[in-house]
Amino acid sequence: MELWMTEYQTPHLGLSVRVKETLYSGQSDYQTIAVVDSEPFGRMLVLDGVFQTSVADEFVYHEMIAHVPLCTHPNPKRVLVIGGGDGGTVREVVKHPSVEQVVMVEIDGMVVDVAKRYLPEISEALIAGHPKLDLRIDDGIRHVQEKHDYYDVIIVDCSDPIGPGTGLFNYDFYQSARQALKSDGIFVQQTESPFVHTDLIKRVWGELSSLFPITKLYLAAIPLYPSGTHCFTMASKRYDPLEFETDKMVDLGTKYHNREIQKSCFVLPNFIKELLK
Ligand code: SAM
Repeated sequence: MELWMTEYQTPHLGLSVRVKETLYSGQSDYQTIAVVDSEPFGRMLVLDGVFQTSVADEFVYHEMIAHVPLCTHPNPKRVLVIGGGDGGTVREVVKHPSVEQVVMVEIDGMVVDVAKRYLPEISEALIAGHPKLDLRIDDGIRHVQEKHDYYDVIIVDCSDPIGPGTGLFNYDFYQSARQALKSDGIFVQQTESPFVHTDLIKRVWGELSSLFPITKLYLAAIPLYPSGTHCFTMASKRYDPLEFETDKMVDLGTKYHNREIQKSCFVLPNFIKELLK
C-alpha cells in the first residue's frame, strides 16, 4: 500500500510526498513531532504537520540563514540562534573562524533529541557538543528580553508563526532583539514565501524597517517550502550587505552559498519590490 503525507500550506494548496517509512512519531509539550523517510526528499522533520527540513534540500536553508548575515558582519564573535532545533543552522555558524560562541535557544528539547537520533547529518554540531556551542532549552523570546548590547548576530530559525513560534513574529520581539544586539549587530529571520505569505512579509518588513536603519530581503530556492521560493528578512544596525567586499569571504565548504550568491540573493523581482513599498 502506498503511503502519502500532505502538508496543507494554505487552505487551497498542499505539498504531498510519498512516504517510505515513518521513523518516529511523538508529542512534546509544544507540538507533534514526526520523522518520515520520503521518496523525494529522504528523511524529513515534520512539526505539527508542517515540513521543517529534509536531508535533500536542508543545505540551502541552513547555509543561507547563517552565512548571509555572518558574511555581512566583518567580525561576528557572539551569535544567537533562536529555534533551529534540528541543528542545521548551528552546524553552519560554527564554521566561521571569527565566531567564538553560538548560543542556541530552542524551546522544545524533544526536537533536539529527535534530530540527534534521526537526522545526524543535520544535527552533527549538536551530537558532537561542538566547543563553540552553548545549547539552552528555553523560550527565545524570554532570552532576548534578558540581554542588552550582547550579540553580534541574531538568527531566528523558527517554525511558522503558529504555536510556540507566534511571538517571534511581532514588534515587541523585534524591539527586544534590537536591544540584545550590539551597536553594529545584525538580525535575520526566515520569513516564508513571497508568493504565499505576502501579509506576513509586509508586516515583518514594516516593523523591522521602523526599528533598524538597514532592512533587506533576500531569496533562496528551497523545494520543500511553499512555492519553492523562500525569503529571509535581514535588519542591520550598521553594515549593508550590498557593500560587503566578497573577496574577503573564506571558503566554508558550502553547497549553495558562494561569493556571487552573497550579493545576488538580494536582487528582487518587481512584484516583491512592490510588496515592500
Ligand atoms: N527550517 C525550519 C522552517 O523554516 O520550517 C525551521 C526549523 S526549526 C525545527 C524551528 C524550531 O523553532 C522548532 O524546533 C521550534 O520548537 C522552535 N521554536 C518555536 N518557537 C520558539 C521559541 N519561542 N523559542 C525557541 N524556539 C522556538
